[in-house]
Amino acid sequence: MSITAIPIESTLSIRLTAHPMQRAGAFALALLAANGRLRAMKHPEELTPEEIRFANEVMTADLEATVNAADSKQPGGFWLGISYMFWPNCPINTTNRKKLGRDELRARLHQWRDLPETETLLEAPCVLCERQACGWYGKVDIPLAASTSHRNTTIPGHEGIALCRGCLLSFYALPYACEISGGRAAVVHSWDDRFLARVTGRQAKRMLGRASLTSTSASSSPSYPRERRVIEALRGYEENLTDGVELLVFTNSNKEQEITIQSLDQPLAEWISKSAHGPHAVGWSYLCRTHHTEKKPGIAKLAENLFYNPQYVISAAVSYTRRLIEETSHVPGESPVLTETCFSYATKVLMLTETDSAEIRKLAHKIAEEVSGDFSELKKYLQAQKQARTLKEWLRRKSVDITLRSRAREPFVNERQWLLLFDSEERNYLHRDLLFLGVLAKVHELSPEWRDDPDTRRELEETLDSGDTDIDNDEE
Ligand SMILES: [Zn+2]
Repeated sequence: MSITAIPIESTLSIRLTAHPMQRAGAFALALLAANGRLRAMKHPEELTPEEIRFANEVMTADLEATVNAADSKQPGGFWLGISYMFWPNCPINTTNRKKLGRDELRARLHQWRDLPETETLLEAPCVLCERQACGWYGKVDIPLAASTSHRNTTIPGHEGIALCRGCLLSFYALPYACEISGGRAAVVHSWDDRFLARVTGRQAKRMLGRASLTSTSASSSPSYPRERRVIEALRGYEENLTDGVELLVFTNSNKEQEITIQSLDQPLAEWISKSAHGPHAVGWSYLCRTHHTEKKPGIAKLAENLFYNPQYVISAAVSYTRRLIEETSHVPGESPVLTETCFSYATKVLMLTETDSAEIRKLAHKIAEEVSGDFSELKKYLQAQKQARTLKEWLRRKSVDITLRSRAREPFVNERQWLLLFDSEERNYLHRDLLFLGVLAKVHELSPEWRDDPDTRRELEETLDSGDTDIDNDEE
């Protein structure tokens, strides 16, 4: 294999590739190149060689703080702790590091990370961007490089995979894109570049300036902190999302090498993002209330459902309103807004058609008209709707009553509505939940004397701790 020396400036640039971690790292590198200024952050592919070199110097300077730390728990140990997670056995964390002097550690660090003026390039393409590679790399430099999914890119006889400088530096910048807690790194990725730029830029800004700190220990943060961060990022994003969002949680340490990937599909991610403004902003805060338990804040449980059980979001709203109406004998004041938000969620995220949504609402209105004005009638409906069998009986009896009473030509429940409620397989529950919410919202409108004040439960709303206040204040 022939080797040629080429001036590095002709090749030093960043390309976005198909590798989520490289992409996130590239945007983190762009924030470092902008010296931490979010508004000055460029697209990674627009970075000049000087800017890329500057970003690399920032990273090396952060790692230099580790040479003074005996271990990751000492001041300056922050990046040492991270290095075990991202770059096991790299020159600054070898098992004999305690025997090495500071000067020796510093020299090894610079040997590892400094960019040479001229680069010796391989006659092999970078596996990610196909530009000329500068070397072979493995687990020490690239998280999870030795995992089976990457093994097929390893060329026999070589320890690792071929990378160009741009891709290598993107991987070196990856920790700046990550939230580090509980022995894991978590990075948010999306194929929507604008969203990725925003979420990564902000995370990288949080990571800057931590070099003098000690390494983070096990997390004492609330439930689902990573998922909450993603939701917070989505709700802070005001543009249209063009793709879904992924949460990658991983470690590359010697003790364990692991990755889990959780995705929010585009419709769900978009709905969460849009819920921060406009007609569903209040509905979102009510959804948090409905998920609140003594052990878990509402936002944590909602985050859990949105990520892992999106079909449970509406049933949580149903349980909450049912419990309140049973406890207080009032129709919860949240009902109308909450119902609109749940119908929106059902059509936009759970793909209920507008036609079926309208059928369910139509029946809900009819039922509400039958039960409003007489609380004992409402109670009978509430009791009946707990089970499919009893709801069927209640609807059949109502149909007969109404036919005898008014000789209505139109049936009380039409065929389509019956099918939606009782013969739609796993969707039966969703349709019956929506019917229940639709009935309560309409009863709330028709029987004002049964309403209660939703503000009495305001303490159940959890606000997201955005952690972004300092960032917003300190943009240029
Ligand atoms: Zn490359």
